[in-house]
Formats: sequence, C-alpha cells, structure tokens
Amino acid sequence: MNEINFLDLPLEVAITQLPQAEVKAKKITINKCKLLKKELEITTIRDLINHFPYRFYDKREFKKIKEASHYFNQYILLTGYFKEFYEENLGKRRVMKGIFADASGIIEITWFNHYGWVKEKIKTNIQYVLFGRVSYYKNYYIAHPEIKTLEKFLQSEEYKHLYPIYSTTERLAKAGLNSDGIMSFIKIVLPQAMKYIKEPYPNELLKDAKLVSITEAYQNIHFPKTEKDYEKALYRMKFSEAFDLQIFYAYQNVVRDKQQTPYRFTKVGKLFNEFYNKHLPFELTKAQKKVIREIWEDLRSGRQMNRLLQGDVGSGKTIVALMSILLAIDNGYQACLMAPTELLAQQHFKTISKLLKGLPVEVDLLVGSTPQKKRNYLLKDLLEGKINILIGTHALIEEVVQFKNLGLVIIDEQHRFGVIQRAKLHLKSDYPPHVLVMTATPIPRTLTLTVYGDLRVSVIDELPPNRKPVKTIYLPSTLRYQAWDLMRNEIKKGHQAYVVYPLIDESKKMNLIALTEGYDAIIAEFPPPQYSIAMIHGRMSSQERDEIMYHFSKGKIDILVATTVIEVGVDVPNASLMIIENAERFGLAQLHQMRGRVGRSSEQAYCILIGGENISENAIHRLKIMVETTDGFKIAEEDYRLRGPGEIEGVRQSGQRFFNIIDPINDQHLIEYSNKFAQELICKDPLLEKTEYKSLHSIIERYKLENISLSSIG
Ligand code: ADP
Ligand code: MG
Repeated sequence: MNEINFLDLPLEVAITQLPQAEVKAKKITINKCKLLKKELEITTIRDLINHFPYRFYDKREFKKIKEASHYFNQYILLTGYFKEFYEENLGKRRVMKGIFADASGIIEITWFNHYGWVKEKIKTNIQYVLFGRVSYYKNYYIAHPEIKTLEKFLQSEEYKHLYPIYSTTERLAKAGLNSDGIMSFIKIVLPQAMKYIKEPYPNELLKDAKLVSITEAYQNIHFPKTEKDYEKALYRMKFSEAFDLQIFYAYQNVVRDKQQTPYRFTKVGKLFNEFYNKHLPFELTKAQKKVIREIWEDLRSGRQMNRLLQGDVGSGKTIVALMSILLAIDNGYQACLMAPTELLAQQHFKTISKLLKGLPVEVDLLVGSTPQKKRNYLLKDLLEGKINILIGTHALIEEVVQFKNLGLVIIDEQHRFGVIQRAKLHLKSDYPPHVLVMTATPIPRTLTLTVYGDLRVSVIDELPPNRKPVKTIYLPSTLRYQAWDLMRNEIKKGHQAYVVYPLIDESKKMNLIALTEGYDAIIAEFPPPQYSIAMIHGRMSSQERDEIMYHFSKGKIDILVATTVIEVGVDVPNASLMIIENAERFGLAQLHQMRGRVGRSSEQAYCILIGGENISENAIHRLKIMVETTDGFKIAEEDYRLRGPGEIEGVRQSGQRFFNIIDPINDQHLIEYSNKFAQELICKDPLLEKTEYKSLHSIIERYKLENISLSSIG
C-alpha cells in the first residue's frame, strides 16, 4: 500500500485496517463513517485528520477550589469528594445540588435537569475529577460538569495534552460522534496515518521558514502538550495551505510556458491599425495602452495566454477586449466574448457592432433566447469561419457550439464564471485558446494570489479622464423625499436615473411586489407624460428587457425602475443618478457594481443608498463605507472583513474549495511570506528536478487530481 492509498481511502474501508480492538472499544462503525461524510463531508482518512479542533480545554492541571473565583466563566479541572446532595427550589423548578470539596475548600455543583442519576451513581467515598465552567449566582458554582472517577481519569489520556474540541453536528452528536467521539476516532487513526504522511518539503525550506515537520504538525494540531506546540503546528499548517497552492500554480505556469501553442499571433495587422487610427472614439488611457501591450506580448509569445484583466467599474475594459479580439482576427483566428447575463451580452454586441461599423468584421450574438432557426445557420457560419466574433452568454460553452479556429476567448465579469466553465472553454479546440478574464476586482488583493494564481494579472489602475467620483449619500427612508428632489433636478438637466429594488429571488412572484409598489410610488411623484418611467426585471423576456434598455440608452426613458439585472456592465453614460432602496440588503461589492452604472461621463453623478425601515446600526456602518470610498479594492476587502469569504462572490463562485484554516485577511502576511518561498524555489529549479525538491511533486499531483475532477463535472 502506498502513501496515497491509505490516506485517501474512504473511511469505511480504512477502518478495517485499523487496530480492531480499539475500533470496537470506541464503537466506530461503518454507519458513523457514512454519517461523517453526509454531515461534514469527511470522506477519507485525510479529511478526518484535516478536521482540526477549533479550541482546546486545559485538563492538564488541577485547580484549587479556593481559587475558583479566579476562573469565572472559564473551564477548570478539580479533584475531590462530594460531601452531600440535596434538592432545592429555584424559581419554578427543582434543581439538584451537590457540595464538592478538596483540601482548599468547597464549591456548589448544580444540575438543573435530568439529575435522577446523580444520587444513584455518585458516591461520597470515591475521589472524582470534575471539569466544568465556573459560574456565579450568589456563590460560585459549576453546572453540569463532566465527572469521572480519579481512577478513570488517570487511565484516560486527557491530562497529557491540551484537550481538543471539534466542531460537529447535532445528528453526529446523537450518533455518538460529539466532539469527544470525533477525538477518539482521530486518536485511533492518527498513529496509523502517520506512517503514510511523508514530509513533502525540503529541509532547507523547513529551516528557512522555521517550520516544524509535517508529522509533528499533525500530532500537535490535535493533541498539543503546550500552547507553544499548538502554535507551531498551526503555523506550519497555515503555511502549507498557502504554500502548496502557490507552488502548484507556479509550477503549472512554468510547464505551461514551456508548451508551445499553435496560436502564435505574429502581426499587428490592418484591422487593428485601421480601428486604432480611424474608429477609436477616444484616446486610450495610459493604463489601457499598457495592458494592451501586455496582452499583445502574450499573444505573440507562442505560449498560451491566461491573463486576468482587473479594472474597476468604468475603467474601460471593453475596448481592451475589442482590441485584443482584432489582433486575433488579424492573425486569422476567431474570437469569442462571454458575458454573465443576456443583457450584458446584448449590450456588448451592440457596442462592438457599432464600434466596428464599416470594418470587414462579422460579429454575431448567441444567447439562450436565440431562436432555433437563427441558431442553426449561426452555428454553420461559425464552423465555416464566416463569423469572426461570437458574443454570448453561457450558451457559448454548450457542446454544439463549434468554431473553425477559435484563437481567443474573453470572459467578462469573471466573478460570475467559475473554474469549471473556464475549463470547458479549453475543450473548444485541440489546443486551449488564449484566455483573457476580465473582472472589476471583486476580491481582495491577497485572495487574487490564490484564487487566480494560475493567471497572470494586468491592472487598469486609472479611469478615463474627467471622471468625477460618484457622490454617495446615505439616507434613512424617512428622508427619501431628498432623493426624489435630486432626481427631479437631474432629470431637469437632461440626465437619467436608476431606482433599484432588492429582489432576493426574482423567480418568486411575491418579490415583485416591492418593485411594483416602488414603481407606483414613483409614478405618483413623477407623473407621466411629464416624466417617462419604465420598469425592468429578470422575469421579463429578454426581448422586452432589450427594448427597454434600448429606449433608456437613447434617452427616451427618464427613470428606470429596476432589479439587479442592471448590476453588471450596463453602460449608459447619460445616467447620472442611482437610487438604491433597502440598500442594506446588498453586499458591498454588489453595491459597488451598481454604483458603477453611473459616473460614466464627465458630469457629476450621484448614488443614494436608502436604508430600510428596520435597518440596524451595523448595516448603517457598512453602508457608510460606500459613502467614504469609491475604491473597489478597499470595498472588496471591507466586504470580506464583514461578511467572510463565503459571501465574496469571486470566491464563492470560483468553484474552488478554499482555505481551511487560513484567514485571508488576518493571515495576509503569511500568504505573502509563503508565496515568496514558493517563487524562490521555482526560480532556483523551475521544474523541481533536484533530488531534494522531488517530493514537492506529491503536492502538485494532488492538486492536479482535484483540478481534473473539478473540470470534468457537468
Ligand atoms: P468597464 O471596465 O466597467 O467594463 P466600460 O468598458 O464599459 O467599463 O467603459 C466605461 C465607459 O467609459 C464606456 O462608456 C466607454 O466608452 C468609456 N471609455 C472607455 N475608455 C475610455 C477612454 N480611454 N476615454 C474615454 N472614455 C472611455
Ligand atoms: Mg464591463
């Protein structure tokens, strides 16, 4: 049996290879293994030993009862004798009390319920060990402590190390796998697992980064003798979590760079130049020029491009995408541009068609609602190479969509696309085409290292000239009229406005009520025909939505009452006001996206966040962050801090299993520190061929396996 085998065995199989006497004694059964899988996704031995305790109790030392008051609200370990028991009325209920004594004094032990067993089981002539939390009501007391005879306690190993507490679930606890049950299981498994855990790191790394060995780390993250031991173990585990992913990405990037791709773009051709000289409606910003150069370097390198283009909302990513596409077409290839929503795909289609007017380029659109008939000849044209640019939604990654020679794929607003979709695109041709992923930085900087570690990063760090930051104002709902005054004013100036309502689930009819009520209220305040108002939401057909957006973009609609369908990418520069109702219901990153719909011209724009009626102090505090900054990076980090990684769209939807023990905000330093070591190693030996680096391949192999299983889903 090799290393991978035992650690990666399903638990129910692995337990047959454990010392059977212990397995029996601790009542470890196949059913419990199955339950672990169901409840905590613990499937293998590796999963189990990676289920780390979240805190520890200290049962290493008896405390004196006399000193109990020093440990108010903390857990302490006592040993001594029960003197007496008695029942007492406490308010409406009856409780059981015991007086427990050691040489230093006495303390009350209280049972509030289920105490029938106490008098029967507990003797006054036997020495006990108690473990519980010190509380206070008239006197110091301990309620429902753990009780063991001293003899039993000494037989157990509890006092030999810090006592680990594991997270579990109600169902597991009922089945005997409470924290202690899980601890016993791990205790049996760990010594066996140790035989198969091999140190993947070279000695120099252990030494330079001051890491304990992997086996020591596993031992001490579960059963440390001292706090210091635990800290060292935790540090090693965190380091590994970051380093392993980074060495994997770094190695993959080296391998990828060594592979030649047939998509070597050799020339900046006629199309690109003609567009640049005659069609470009504005001067590119310095940052746009810089990233186009970076992209071009990739495209001509003979290696497959995997690049992330980060640029805040409104920084002008679309034109960069288009110019990259022209480079592909100039070199005889097709390109596709994928957007997260139909609305956005349609908008890209229009913008790009308009920009390319008069140039010999065929652009087409494929979305979910494209009629079958049109779809049929579109697919034929695509395969014959008659279409140069295909724009669309997820529909583009369906298998029936086949290109003649797809050379470049652009994915807009990446946070809606996952690794899986990206992987599917790679299957569109014999060799993976060049890939450019565009995002408005929805995730904190340090996460980029890990979530997008397989991508090279380009940043547009400047907005087009003459943009004024959007003025953001928070208003409680009682002051809504101020927002309406402002709206009246803006419309008078010839501008347009969005009013957004949060609909959690647009598929449910109920939720439309907020929107339609809001619509009615606005109509009452802004009566037609003086004002022109329209409503747009996710349950309309895409034609309807399309029509409304068209009128809005032409300035025929003053106020667009909308749901978050307008969140991403919509570009109507004449709109200068964004009012968001019940703003507290949105994440900061989402608010930032919506705010990005205005402020797209040189005119001053406004965003008004209206709080709901029962808004909490916390929520107001969160919204104030939006008022204070327009920096997308900062907002993403705040959002992370406040809501945790699971709520960050870029992370949740990246489809990647994420950090287990690292806290990407508080451990930023560690992430960067470990990254430094990974980069140094790869620099020294890009393919990790030196004998002492060979073992690092086991890490890489494991990630490869995970990635393959990921990309083969669906
Ligand atoms: P995003 O990066 O959010 O996708 P867009 O590509 O939609 O931004 O661009 C936002 C707006 O800025 C569009 O109206 C676009 O035409 C305009 N724009 C882009 N680049 C420039 C530039 N260099 N100068 C002036 N306006 C620009
Ligand atoms: Mg965009």
